[in-house]
Amino acid sequence: MIDMNEINSVEERKPKNFIYELIDQDNQTNRFQKRVHTRFPPEPNGYLHIGHAKAICLNYGIAKDYNGKFNLRFDDTNPEKEEQEYVDSIVEDVKWLGADFEDRIFYASDYFEQMYDYAIKLIKKGKAYVCDLSADEIRETRGTLTEAGKESPYRNRTVEENLDLFERMKKGEFPNGSKTLRAKIDMASPNFNLRDPIMYRIIHSEHHRQGNKWCIYPTYDWAHGLEDSIEGITHSICTLEFENHRPLYDWFLDELEIYHPQQIEFARLNLSYTVMSKRKLLQLVKEKYVDGWDDPRMPTISGFRRRGYTPESIKNFTEIIGVAKRDALTDISLLEFAIRDDLNKRATRVMAVLDPLKVVLTNVNDDEDLDAINNPEDPNAGSRKIKFTREIFIEKSDFMENPPKGFHRLVPGGEVRLRYAYIIKCNEVIKNENGDIIELHCTIDPETKSGVGTSTKKVKGTIHWVSAKYNFNADVYLYDRLFNIENPGAEENWLDFINPNSLQIIKDAKLELSLMEAKIDQHFQFERLGYFCVDRKYSNENKIVFNRTVTLKDSWKQGK
Ligand code: ATP
Ligand code: MG
Repeated sequence: MIDMNEINSVEERKPKNFIYELIDQDNQTNRFQKRVHTRFPPEPNGYLHIGHAKAICLNYGIAKDYNGKFNLRFDDTNPEKEEQEYVDSIVEDVKWLGADFEDRIFYASDYFEQMYDYAIKLIKKGKAYVCDLSADEIRETRGTLTEAGKESPYRNRTVEENLDLFERMKKGEFPNGSKTLRAKIDMASPNFNLRDPIMYRIIHSEHHRQGNKWCIYPTYDWAHGLEDSIEGITHSICTLEFENHRPLYDWFLDELEIYHPQQIEFARLNLSYTVMSKRKLLQLVKEKYVDGWDDPRMPTISGFRRRGYTPESIKNFTEIIGVAKRDALTDISLLEFAIRDDLNKRATRVMAVLDPLKVVLTNVNDDEDLDAINNPEDPNAGSRKIKFTREIFIEKSDFMENPPKGFHRLVPGGEVRLRYAYIIKCNEVIKNENGDIIELHCTIDPETKSGVGTSTKKVKGTIHWVSAKYNFNADVYLYDRLFNIENPGAEENWLDFINPNSLQIIKDAKLELSLMEAKIDQHFQFERLGYFCVDRKYSNENKIVFNRTVTLKDSWKQGK
């Protein structure tokens, strides 16, 4: 586990991973004529998540570092779960991450004809056969770890019979599930994947791109290696669960005697306090636990985009965590660290009060324009004027009538600095008939004006504020982790661990006027409150909605 206290910057954490070493070796032996060609092969059956982002950044990063090429390829071989909506969202997300596939966007379904021809070739070689066992029967006869599988009674059909049946499968003569095409390998192989795996199944279903042209569809295992071969991919990078499938892909390519990419496996990304399986994410969406795939609490790329994460910070995160050979759970704080690191450099500082308490500054009569620095991290960001007036708002939580020890903000008779303004003193606490505090009466010390005043007075606390006369109202959405246990994906009843407080909606927060101009994709630091962005879904001409991207500090670490 990475200790974040030891990371000073994202830059210094970028390791060189083992995949680069393998590619270097291939380049040295001239195996692929020094070509490097990678791809990202999503199945369009859901929106992309942060795990996919890792695969995208890795594959695109490698292509870029070696002056190679990177393809986007849809692995659209299963008509029952795939949709155009998913294709569109994936294209948008990959582009947004900055992974440039140029004009190389491909669809496995465009290779169906070619794959069919390859299957014929295997049948003719006596290496594939049509099997009439049902899916269940095939599973039941697969054998166990210690026992060989049972050979199918259809295994020794003649080439002619197989060719005839396979063609009739393609023509649609047989119902769903009644026949499959299987590779004829070895029912006694210690590797289950080699026990006569299914290559084609009959699915009478409309395909989102091919319509009703096909009613036999290739399995992932049959199709995937072929797709990489057809596109001339050199390094076919995938997650660890495919390590045991590699001998099968090798077998197919060798039997077909076609171009052979190198498969390299790495550990998939798992993130704490979230689930990553597409099936589970789909359930969260379908059963309305969240507000769509792009809900800012979702670990999807579209959710992160709405929440205000930047492509750079996601890329930096994938580099910080590196590439491993063993599955592990990555601490979500590392992702948040990368977001803060990036936004710290680019976010304009502004003031907003989420839970306002009115303060009357009894010795202020005239409005005053004060200078506020836009970003202390960026000397080019300049400054802006903010309105200082007799009545202002501060956060309710910045005042306490009976403060505990160590409370350095405003208390009766005490002093605090107003950011970019003056030190004020609290003289009077005004309450309503129920005893609730409704207003404070304070005075400013005119000698303490920020950056100008001659006073040497020091106070322990500085608080943010907004003019009560010049401000505007906006809704602010505060997000917390969607689950309240570290590894919800490992639980049977994972839905029981949804954090009921993962979204808090603040109506009519008071914002400084400069924020009226805020645009989608702009990032802000609301001083002391966190990083925020304009919500692209619910903001309109009449109302701006802000999303909190991330808090300023890791509040979970401090035990909130
Ligand atoms: P499924 O196959 O169950 O639908 P998947 O997450 O594998 O889900 P794909 O669309 O097949 O989805 O994934 C596309 C690519 O993204 C694959 O090459 C896979 O290796 C990679 N990928 C998926 N999930 C992760 C993850 N958590 N970490 C790293 N890479 C991932
Ligand atoms: Mg997959």
